[in-house]
Amino acid sequence: MKFTNLRLVGFKSFVDATDFEIRDGLTGVVGPNGCGKSNLLEALRWVMGATSAKALRGEGMGDVIFSGTSMRPARNWAEVTLALDNADRSAPAEYNDSPVIEVSRRIVQKEDGTQSIYRINAKEVRAKDVQLLFADAATGANSPALVRQGQVAELINAKPQNRRRLLEEAAGVTGLHTRRHEAELR
Ligand code: ATP
Ligand code: MG
Repeated sequence: MKFTNLRLVGFKSFVDATDFEIRDGLTGVVGPNGCGKSNLLEALRWVMGATSAKALRGEGMGDVIFSGTSMRPARNWAEVTLALDNADRSAPAEYNDSPVIEVSRRIVQKEDGTQSIYRINAKEVRAKDVQLLFADAATGANSPALVRQGQVAELINAKPQNRRRLLEEAAGVTGLHTRRHEAELR
């Protein structure tokens, strides 16, 4: 699976629809402080199913929605869409018919809280389905491939069980555990 495009609408500082084409090879994002580089990585983590506000540097889930500036009013929804190239069929087998996979997550601010809607190829799915899609691909919202500020120190100070989880994630067996846990619940 290769990331090919990331589209942000109303996510943090990206108030207007913004597309980032991700080409083969190394991609660098450069720009002055506060221009939105970290917000981009957060969008990536978020669309892959991140649910912890801490991982997103926010207070509440709704904080990812564009909160307005002196020039622009706030929005009440945000959406991130990630396009994946599955030509090598490295996604879980149930996606073998999809050479391209599009994952999207939308959050809507309601009076009584926020609602998240996940879609895979336009079909509404559970957060868990999105997390499972990435679980064995050494990517995903909690992937050790995405290193947050302060995370190295966290790893060093982590309890053994938590450190083990990171090692399992790196070994690509987390998806197995999640599926087994789901099977046991049924
Ligand atoms: P640095 O080089 O300092 O790490 P950066 O390019 O990583 O900067 P980000 O942290 O991605 O910058 O972006 C910070 C900007 O995003 C700030 O200007 C902040 O006001 C804006 N921002 C964050 N959340 C929202 C939101 N919900 N609505 C509007 N703007 C937001
Ligand atoms: Mg930053």
